[in-house]
Amino acid sequence: MDYKITLLPGDGIGPEVVGEAVRVLEVIASKYHHTFHFAERLMGGCSIDTFGSSLADETLADCKSADAVLLGAVGGPKWDDPSAKDRPERGLLALRKGLGVFANLRPVKAHPALIDSSPLRPEKLKDVDIIVVRELTGGLYFGWPKGRDVKDGRERAVDTLEYYDYEIRRVMELAFKLAKGRKKKVTSVDKANVLESSRLWRQIATQIGKENSDIQLEHVLVDTASMKLVTAPASFDVIVTENMFGDILTDEASVLAGSMGMLPSASLSESGPGLYEPTHGSAPDIAGKGIANPIGTILSSAMMLRHSFELDNEAASVENAVDEVITDGCRTADIGGKLTTRQMADEVIERLQ
Ligand code: NAD
Repeated sequence: MDYKITLLPGDGIGPEVVGEAVRVLEVIASKYHHTFHFAERLMGGCSIDTFGSSLADETLADCKSADAVLLGAVGGPKWDDPSAKDRPERGLLALRKGLGVFANLRPVKAHPALIDSSPLRPEKLKDVDIIVVRELTGGLYFGWPKGRDVKDGRERAVDTLEYYDYEIRRVMELAFKLAKGRKKKVTSVDKANVLESSRLWRQIATQIGKENSDIQLEHVLVDTASMKLVTAPASFDVIVTENMFGDILTDEASVLAGSMGMLPSASLSESGPGLYEPTHGSAPDIAGKGIANPIGTILSSAMMLRHSFELDNEAASVENAVDEVITDGCRTADIGGKLTTRQMADEVIERLQ
């Protein structure tokens, strides 16, 4: 099969980790007789420097016409001025909105061989295997009105938390679909005791729960969920939540796995290309040193194979190779070892061949 993949390596360690994921995909292509056409484009800070915009119109158009998009990370101190006209994060939000990727999937597994890298006690981490589904194109980050003004002589800032029923329904249905292939449990996280948008969220979750009686549905308030993620993480299977709660909870959940460098993500739309990226940022503190952990990006490319191309065997072979690499004790610095980015990817590739 032929697939067109737009690469957006971005800033900082982004190009380093995306380069290694591409090497892994090339091995998959030759082993399983596929052709991946890669087209690399600028996005984020590097795009501001070159085009004066964090996401050029042509770049978004190229992403929309691809079968999938693989992103590294964007941002860095150079583009941190809060008063700047454009910022790398704006490009990221515009890309998500432009691709219509309404659901962000973040699997979090505590690999037995890495349990010591996590700040949690080992017994808490036994059997942790969670997937967080975060609504990605609605809620507080996109609601209108938004901005600053002066009212009654006082400076005022406004953000709007707004959800339509269809936005909740589609992400909820995806969470239930994922739960069917897993432990058949959905935890819907909201703040229904305070927020009207959460009451609509809970109402729709309950309706979809009734339509899927084989799945156990629980409602958990976001404050309780954040506590349970560290006191009883193994009690979760699929967590589904709105945009901002998901933003915060996914970072909290990532700590369970030991390092940000290990975790992949997939952002899915209704019918267009998916967006795949590691959950970490551009890590300016280690950029250019060749020591970033490429596993999060390599696993993101495995999610691409599964969710965008329906190549389940190919995805599983990448995931199994990563599993073996970790079990065999291969480690980059963030997880207590000395391997470089390239050497870590070489270990994965060796086990794929
Ligand atoms: P970060 O994820 O870049 O780094 C946090 C810490 O984790 C750092 O110590 C870093 O060295 C380490 N780390 C991250 N990824 C690693 C990897 N693959 N291997 C080894 N260590 C790794 O978060 P930050 O420092 O808060 O943000 C840095 C920049 O990244 C900021 O400009 C921020 O806006 C941006 N950012 C971008 C994204 C994105 O592109 N999706 C996400 C988060 C942050």
